[in-house]
Parts: sequence; C-alpha cells; structure tokens
Amino acid sequence: MFNSLSDRLSATFKNLRGKGRLSEADVDATVREIRRALLDADVAVPVVRDFAGRIRERALGEEVSGALNPSQQVVKIVNEELVGILGGETRRLRLAKNPPTVIMLAGLQGAGKTTLAGKLAKHLKGEGHSPILVAADLQRPNAVTQLQVVGQRAGVAVFAPHPGVQSELEAATGDPVAVAREGVEEARRKLHDIVIVDTAGRLGVDAEMMQQAADIRAAITPDEVLFVIDAMIGQDAVNTAKAFEEGVDFTGVVLSKLDGDARGGAALSVASVTGRPVMFASTGEGLDDFELFHPDRMASRILD
Ligand code: GDP
Repeated sequence: MFNSLSDRLSATFKNLRGKGRLSEADVDATVREIRRALLDADVAVPVVRDFAGRIRERALGEEVSGALNPSQQVVKIVNEELVGILGGETRRLRLAKNPPTVIMLAGLQGAGKTTLAGKLAKHLKGEGHSPILVAADLQRPNAVTQLQVVGQRAGVAVFAPHPGVQSELEAATGDPVAVAREGVEEARRKLHDIVIVDTAGRLGVDAEMMQQAADIRAAITPDEVLFVIDAMIGQDAVNTAKAFEEGVDFTGVVLSKLDGDARGGAALSVASVTGRPVMFASTGEGLDDFELFHPDRMASRILD
C-alpha cells in the first residue's frame, strides 16, 4: 500500500533539496509531480485537483517558517493536507449514553463487512465491552452462517433471523429490517452494550439494496453507520461512496483489504469526497487484522 506513491513523492521532494528559495516555476513543477503521483495511485481526479490546488496556493503563499528549508516546508504542507483529507484527528467510536450503542455496517457485497463485524466485535470485547452481532444480511447465500462462524471465532453472541436456520431460502425470505430491530431488542434484553448490525450489499450500487439499508437505518437509529469499502476498487470508490453517503448518510469509513497491493487512492478519495473520517482499517482475512485508523500516522507513512 502506498509504496509507489511514497517513493514518487520522496523523489519529488528530493528535487527541491538544496534550493534556497522556491520560484513559482519550482512550485509548479513540484505540484505537477505530486498530481501525477496521486493520479497514478488511483486517487480520484477531482480530489487530486483540489489537493494540488491547495498545495500550490500554500507553497506560494506561506512564509517559510524559520527552522525549515523550502523542501521541508513543502513536505510539511503536503503532510498537513493529507492528514486533513484523511479526516484530521483520529476519530473514535461514539458510544451511546444509554447503551446499547448501535453500529450499522453498510457497503457493497464483498467489501468485507461480515469479516469486519467479527474484527470489530473482537476488538470491542477486548476493550471490555459485551458486543452482539446481528445478521441482517439476508441477501447473500451463506451470509448468516458466515456471521455465525465469525461470531463464534470472536467469542461473541450472534443474533440471527431464526436461530439455527436450516435453509438459505428461509433466511432469504425473512425481513432484514425486522431482524435488525429485533437484534437491537435482543441486545437490550441480554444487556449487551454494543450491537453491530451486518447488512446486505450488492455487487454494484442498487436502488433496492440502498432502500433496504436506509430502512434499516431508520428502524434502528444507529449511533454509528460505518461504510466499509474495499481499498482495491480504485476510481470506483468515489461514486460508490457518494451513493452510500446519499443512501445511508454514513458517519465513518472503514477501509478494508489494505493489505492488498492496492495503490491506495481509494483511501484518500473516499474521505475527501464525503468529508467523513476513516475510522478503521482492515488488513487481512484474520480476526486480528484490524487497526484503528490514525490520519497522521497514515500521512507519515505516505511521506516516509
Ligand atoms: P461482505 O460481503 O461485505 O460481508 O464481505 P466479506 O466480509 O464476506 O469479505 C469478502 C471477502 O474478502 C472474503 O473472502 C474475506 O475473507 C475477504 N476479506 C475481507 N476483509 C479483508 C481484508 O482486510 N483483507 C483481505 N485480504 N481480505 C479480506
């Protein structure tokens, strides 16, 4: 992740070393290189344009602070702007004043929601919470069973439409909104302080799926709606994120498959176009391949 972007940016900054003062031509050449590196890393075009514009404006407009040479000053500006588009401060989960805290997961099929549900539950359990998973993805064959398996591995309770569901057909004809609502009720009854509701996705953005997600959101009024997105989807990330922003008004982003050889652009694009913070990163298929996302650390990793 980000290796090639990182290399390209450091080569660009190296060209500025030893310069006493940056001319407008130096800044323009640097910004051009930054722009190309970001586009090659699959960052969405409008995001690159805004980002490059801000870097140029600041690099030309700001006084170089005493201790920094011009090259360091540009790195500092790029770093601050990267942290900014990744969401600024590290954003933690907002816990409800009156438990249970309700967390809803949304995203395309295959994005990594079900896997994330297990990882998040395990993480929260490790912090002393008592989470329960709710299987409201009744679309995908096997999703309920998959969540039950994940829950078992994480050592957390799972609420499924019909405990011990025998046929997938039976699950598919259930009502996901009712399951989600009952799941939250179950959490309240059994004194779980956090409910994580897994929902159905489709391979592409689809009106019916989005309506279902919106209906679930309306029924359970979640404290957090986490949009899970596969970091490998590249340029498609922006349109998908915008559709989910409109459809379910998510409160935070989870980047999954950050372990892959994705060029990382999706990470920068999604946070930037939606203005929602990236909160977690999923970095593998195992339950422990999970990290809290720190914008400043990610920016430093990119600029390392
Ligand atoms: P869902 O349809 O959104 O619930 O997606 P799943 O959780 O079923 O994940 C789809 C596939 O991606 C599964 O094969 C997972 O094992 C895999 N997967 C999920 N998260 C990650 C991750 O962070 N890294 C990698 N390499 N694979 C992942």
